[in-house]
Amino acid sequence: MQENRVKLAFFGRVPTEDPRLVPVASVSPDRPQRLHKSAARAFTAMRRAALRDGYDLQIASGWRPHRWRDREHYNSHLRSRYGSVGEGRKWVAFDSPHETGLAFDLGNPKPLAPTSATVQAQRNSPVYAWLVENAERFGVTPYRREPWHWEVNVPLSEFQNPSTGRTRKVLTIAAVAVAGVVLSLLVT
Ligand SMILES: [Zn+2]
Repeated sequence: MQENRVKLAFFGRVPTEDPRLVPVASVSPDRPQRLHKSAARAFTAMRRAALRDGYDLQIASGWRPHRWRDREHYNSHLRSRYGSVGEGRKWVAFDSPHETGLAFDLGNPKPLAPTSATVQAQRNSPVYAWLVENAERFGVTPYRREPWHWEVNVPLSEFQNPSTGRTRKVLTIAAVAVAGVVLSLLVT
């Protein structure tokens, strides 16, 4: 299970009202969650497979807006919450991959939850074992430090225009069909 980290500096932030953000299964109807279309497609396919094995994967936090007014706002939060900027940076990033819509935190099934208090229980859980075994085939990769946090790293062109992937697939199918017809004409 390899990490393939999503870097905000590479993709850039996705703004609040962006058509690339679509709804995904959330832990709570009161807190709807969205992901970038490509990540949503990967998550939903993985979710379907997990459901068949009895795990109802739900997202506690998908896309998030940038949280900090500036560096000082960020640093003062870390000092008050974690005691120091150095300690806080281990847990809270200034630039979060969540701002791309390509990262998500699972909040169900339990014990999965975005909290460092239960890291060990999460790592030892059957649902985590399922993810370790299966996530990769859906293009979903881990952040080992946080068992609840998963990412879908895609090519930049796919990120900018998520319909490209599907269009290419349709064109390929069409090309194969045409080639088949041409071939059958040549043969007969
Ligand atoms: Zn996260």
